[in-house]
Amino acid sequence: LMPKRFRERHDHHVSQFGKGSESQKILEERTEMVALRKNGEEFPVEISISKQHTGHERIYTSIIREVTDRVRAEKKLQFQAYHDSLTGLPNRQFFEDKIRDVLAQKKRFPEMLLAVLFIDLDQFKYINDSMGHSVGDALLEQVAKRLLQSLRDGDVVARWGGDEFVVLLNMLPHEDDAIGAAERIIQVMSQPFMLNDQLFLCSASIGIAFYRGKQEEAKDLSYNELLRNADIAMYRAKELGRARYVVFGQSMYDRVQTRMVLEKDLRQALKDENLELYYQPILELKTAQVAGFEALLRWEHPTRGWISPGVFIPLAEESELIIEIDQWVLRHASLQLQTWHKQYPHAKTMTMSINLSAKHFALPHYISDLIAIVEEVGVDPDFLKLEITEGTLLKQSDSVTTLLKQMKDRNLHLCLDDFGTGYSSLSYLGKFPIDILKIDRSFVCQLKTGSEQIEVVRAIITLAHSLGMKVVAEGVETLFQMAELEKLSCEYIQGFFVSAPVRKSIAANFVQQPIWQGEFRL
Ligand code: C2E
Ligand code: CA
Ligand code: CA
Repeated sequence: LMPKRFRERHDHHVSQFGKGSESQKILEERTEMVALRKNGEEFPVEISISKQHTGHERIYTSIIREVTDRVRAEKKLQFQAYHDSLTGLPNRQFFEDKIRDVLAQKKRFPEMLLAVLFIDLDQFKYINDSMGHSVGDALLEQVAKRLLQSLRDGDVVARWGGDEFVVLLNMLPHEDDAIGAAERIIQVMSQPFMLNDQLFLCSASIGIAFYRGKQEEAKDLSYNELLRNADIAMYRAKELGRARYVVFGQSMYDRVQTRMVLEKDLRQALKDENLELYYQPILELKTAQVAGFEALLRWEHPTRGWISPGVFIPLAEESELIIEIDQWVLRHASLQLQTWHKQYPHAKTMTMSINLSAKHFALPHYISDLIAIVEEVGVDPDFLKLEITEGTLLKQSDSVTTLLKQMKDRNLHLCLDDFGTGYSSLSYLGKFPIDILKIDRSFVCQLKTGSEQIEVVRAIITLAHSLGMKVVAEGVETLFQMAELEKLSCEYIQGFFVSAPVRKSIAANFVQQPIWQGEFRL
């Protein structure tokens, strides 16, 4: 019998020990050892020894019990605690313990170079949502196999959770070896997956963070920070268009920090109602009357001053904060319109245009929650125009068509915003129930004497009319542009030439006095 940790073959069978003299009491001790069967096979035993003192006699008794079943169960439990049941890969717990152990040795290996790869599957969510969880599971299993194949002995790959995997490359000779590993992973992931007799593509985005011996030790970088850095780099890889790797750099962290602070402030501003809506009039050319407004959000940051929606809207779109913002805007702009309708009976046909975020359009509840707000406010949906961009239409066109129809059924009007900046594919337009097309500013600003852009704008307007849509030209800044647009039978204009977006108190003047006072005819 040998203490378990020595794991050497020995053939002792001890059941009684020699006499001792120390203790009078019963002593009981238990140890686990490995015993050998006659055929040489090892098996685990538990041995307990007790010492009894009766008069002058001391009796030592030892009980040896085979514990094969218990040890097997324990091992199974331990395996389960450290492995992912679906892919059989080590799990997050295992990985964290491992990386902590490795970093604990840094004093002994001051030149230690290691890399953590954070891997996220690019199309997993889509495949899982559209094909069902069993297909999603099968995909994860295949991904796990491919990852194992593309790594070397000694590298650790674990499932971090969901569709995220992590790799630890320990004791690297050179940073290029980690780059090589990332390239191999991207390569194996570029092959299609066979799932349910169908082929699917699922690429991977990878973030790489290095632990460079002394350099990182000086910063006292923890394993948590190392993983976080790899995660940040992975997000950067996604931003840059997926199916690629990015090596973490300090500037990435600083950007994330700034962004996080800004996002926190924005959340607070929304809670404290420190956001403000500005309204930009939309002029109907035929009547020279203000037909309605577009609500545009403004944020005055307590220390940074005014922050443009061009900056904070994309930031809010990174999280689901934009959903709350869109709801806030819809509620406040609708209430404002209702107030104006009541205050100025002659203005009761004025409309309000509201921007909707493309990012979360197809999320469950996004549209139904907005519809619920319209109903709760009690504003007539006939006067609301919801602006969406081309990107929204193209992303998931089937579900989007259903959602748009749902909105049309509630009498809401739909505008296609920034037309011409996205895919500029005119042919798909007819598929969607759009009422109004907004020609992007970039076309309008090029409307000058002798410019060929006039033909492009003419073509867009003709197409929109043939599909039964009306047209708003955005960013009209000059009299010339307005006159050209009128000649092209464009129905509405919006831009600095009429008015910049203004506070509600100033916008109220346009409601009170909708006939445009500016220069109108050439
Ligand atoms: P957008 O929907 O295309 O809004 C029109 C933008 O053009 C506004 O910028 C407006 O101030 C600006 N603009 C209007 N007329 C002129 C002009 O004659 N010349 C020039 N150069 N610019 C003009 P803003 O207010 O900075 O908004 C930028 C973008 O932020 C908006 O573009 C929209 O995509 C987004 N946004 C603004 N408010 C909201 C909101 O409440 N919700 C959502 N989801 N997005 C919003
Ligand atoms: Ca807009
Ligand atoms: Ca626009």
